[in-house]
Amino acid sequence: MKTLIAANWKMHGNLSWLQKPADFRRLFPAKNTNIDILLCPPAHMLQAMVRACDGQDIAIGAQNCHDQIKGAFTGELSADMIAETGAKYVIIGHSERRAIFGDNDAWVAAKTSAAQKACLKPIVCVGESREEREAGKAEEVVGTQLAGSIPANADGENLVIAYEPVWAIGTGLTPTIEDIATIHDHIRGCLTIRFGNKIASKIQILYGGSVKPENAIEILALKDVAGALIGGAGLEMQSLAAIASEV
Ligand code: PEP
Repeated sequence: MKTLIAANWKMHGNLSWLQKPADFRRLFPAKNTNIDILLCPPAHMLQAMVRACDGQDIAIGAQNCHDQIKGAFTGELSADMIAETGAKYVIIGHSERRAIFGDNDAWVAAKTSAAQKACLKPIVCVGESREEREAGKAEEVVGTQLAGSIPANADGENLVIAYEPVWAIGTGLTPTIEDIATIHDHIRGCLTIRFGNKIASKIQILYGGSVKPENAIEILALKDVAGALIGGAGLEMQSLAAIASEV
């Protein structure tokens, strides 16, 4: 299975950041390896970023999409509109979307289906809050989110899952290596029960939450961790390249 190193830029950056793919490649020149690099910039630069990545072997993704194809949804982008920019991925159900914008499991599932229909690869995020972890409910919460957020048509390659404990995002805190392994194993188990081993074994499961060059080697070495979804450390190409070097 290939490793996906994905940077979520959130609401950061401006058009001067179109330089970043070339900067990344100066720091990490190895192309067409077993590592896929993905940058998810704010929507206003998707198309220009796709152009800036021409020949760089770097994919571009959006950070959200709407579940409808078109309509009176002021401020929203459909999956087809995103696909039209040349982007290949879309993050869906990030914990910030779930907490601030009301994305619930049913909506995440609808957005995931819409992305798949538009030939985008959705990266579906799940993860427990601090209270849920402290109450010993991390596995239960993640299992429920998976059941509600993943549509029935998974074929192994038409989605990626990102396990992102909410309390680890942007805090510098991470679960122990054992805890990451346990949840990833649990996710694989839930997928196997639902879709069977042939499909479940092909689904990439990323870890996200305060990944940085210093902890990447240990996290990415785990059997069921097929990459990372990276916030803060993905804004600087130096740290993103350092993380990719640990794969
Ligand atoms: C994220 O926002 O998805 C994320 C993982 O952020 P950070 O790496 O900064 O914790």
